Amino acid sequence: MAEERVYDVIVVGAGIVGSYTAYHSCRAGKSTCLLEQFPLPNTRGSSHGQSRTIRSAYGDKEYYTKMMTKAFRMWRQLEELSNQTLFKQTGLLCIGQKGINYIDETATCLQKNRTPFRRLNDGQLRDTYPMLSFPQDIGGAVLDLSGGLILAGRALTAIQNQYRKLGGLLKDGERMMEIIPGKIISVKTEARLYRAKAVVLCVGPWASKILTSIGLDVSLQTQRVKVCYWKEKVKGTFSSRQFPVFSQMNAVGPYLVYGVPCEEYPELVKNTPDEDYILDRHPSWSNIVIGAGFSGHGFKLAPVVGEILSKLAIGLTPEEDLSYFRLNRFTKSHL
Ligand SMILES: Cc1cc2nc3c(=O)[nH]c(=O)nc-3n(C[C@H](O)[C@H](O)[C@H](O)COP(=O)(O)OP(=O)(O)OC[C@H]3O[C@@H](n4cnc5c(N)ncnc54)[C@H](O)[C@@H]3O)c2cc1C
Repeated sequence: MAEERVYDVIVVGAGIVGSYTAYHSCRAGKSTCLLEQFPLPNTRGSSHGQSRTIRSAYGDKEYYTKMMTKAFRMWRQLEELSNQTLFKQTGLLCIGQKGINYIDETATCLQKNRTPFRRLNDGQLRDTYPMLSFPQDIGGAVLDLSGGLILAGRALTAIQNQYRKLGGLLKDGERMMEIIPGKIISVKTEARLYRAKAVVLCVGPWASKILTSIGLDVSLQTQRVKVCYWKEKVKGTFSSRQFPVFSQMNAVGPYLVYGVPCEEYPELVKNTPDEDYILDRHPSWSNIVIGAGFSGHGFKLAPVVGEILSKLAIGLTPEEDLSYFRLNRFTKSHL
């Protein structure tokens, strides 16, 4: 069955990135259809669950810190619009080993961005957080006071509701099977054929396969992430009232490990790894836009990323510097 209507924008994937992209497109006055393969809410992408960490601190990747200033503002706006708490400010403790620049870079980056922070040397770190045990080679930490937790599942539902309120169409339980490029793009799902002037692909861990089908060979690796919970020995020790989100660079081989206070389940503390984004237009069809590669850190920036993707789709120029997020840094196009 084919729809007569030609949408301004079709967004594929109703995770946090796709939902925010659809919201911004609709807000810009564009007719928008958001397609999701699973019935909502679903737990098979990356955006479900109760919490995600949020922070300004990004080591030497200052471009993310700049984007975070806007992201914090947008999360607050969503709280106001939906009239509920979506963000808990606990601070975020960035721990670094001796001999690496991570702590200095983080402090410099926060200072430049005028984000409040505290620096702790090795001794102060151990005194302030006696509930953590640190290896011998710890060189100190920076406490990013802006950091904390986003209540993920609640935030996802909130942005989808705001999108619908603006008149956006959300079709769940409808998988995109094929995308046929052109001035007007055809999107075939299991149920019908849609048409749009622009399509944004925000398909999370399904990106590699879908991008290959439109001629792009992107070296994306889908990783199953194990989330671990540790039981508190003394009840309340890791409560968000006194314990921040924490992260440690190179904690396990090259990986950053982070943990969050007991918020999801009483008395249980949580952990995972990280990498870089793709935010770009298709090299041959500029009306196909790709948002992918968010891996361990895409949630916090979704409000800004969604705005960038929707601007690329509707022909506007985002104010952010997108040179870090180009597709051609690792694609082979077969077109
Ligand atoms: C355990 C874990 C912890 C994390 N911790 C943090 C954190 O602390 N801070 C942080 O900022 N980020 C964190 N992240 C990363 C963050 O959650 C993700 O980067 C973000 O949720 C990605 O959102 P997305 O919308 O791109 O992808 P997803 O949420 O995976 O959404 C993609 C959607 O596309 C749909 N889709 C796919 N193919 C099709 C198709 N053919 N047709 C229709 N629909 C389709 C899928 O069903 C899915 O719903 C974490 C991730 C995980 C897994």
